[in-house]
Amino acid sequence: MPLNDISERLAAATRAAGRPEDAVALIAVSKVQPEERVLGVLEQGHRLFGENRVQEAQDRWSPLLPRYPDVALHLIGPLQTNKARAAVEMAAAIHSLDRPKLATALARLAQERGQSPDLFVQVNTGAEPQKAGVLPEDTDAFIGDCRGMDLPVVGLMCIPPAEEDPAPHFAMLAEIAARNGLDGLSMGMSGDFETAVAHGATHVRVGSAIFGARDHG
Ligand SMILES: *Cc1c(COP(=O)(O)O)cnc(C)c1O
Repeated sequence: MPLNDISERLAAATRAAGRPEDAVALIAVSKVQPEERVLGVLEQGHRLFGENRVQEAQDRWSPLLPRYPDVALHLIGPLQTNKARAAVEMAAAIHSLDRPKLATALARLAQERGQSPDLFVQVNTGAEPQKAGVLPEDTDAFIGDCRGMDLPVVGLMCIPPAEEDPAPHFAMLAEIAARNGLDGLSMGMSGDFETAVAHGATHVRVGSAIFGARDHG
């Protein structure tokens, strides 16, 4: 099964990097996948899943969570401020904190609820105009602002430019995290998660390599 293959490759990459066995969490990215594939992975005992849209995540997981109450959902896609409440009610972690307005909304919700998902600040390491994320040179200040709002920032996330070697982007993300005292590094997808592990990833987000190709999205 693909899940076992990926788990084994992840374990080998973690060992090769000289890191502890449980150093890297495998987020199975189930967005846009047919339900039977997701059920297959659930039946194999996997419990950590990533979705990139709040509405889609609700539609898929609301009926499944009563049967699999120990599932943890991580929101990895762009988050509109008006979806922030639904996001914090559902997600154990949000990997796409990328602007002050969203930080303010999440801080207000955290105050009101007395709890917050773990938060990763998304960094646009390639400074791509069409891509979400804080620019590298603005990241230290943004992390400081988030901490000033008592937000639980646990790490950084990036999606390197599709056509480039991802390694320098992973290295940059690790460097920004280290100088800000952050342990979490959400980086690496189906095509490059082993490289990400070598650069210190703590969370890899793997979709198509586990579930098969997506029809769209
Ligand atoms: C879809 C997606 C992934 C998974 O991509 P694959 O190449 O299918 O592994 C990872 N991260 C984000 C933010 C995504 O949107």
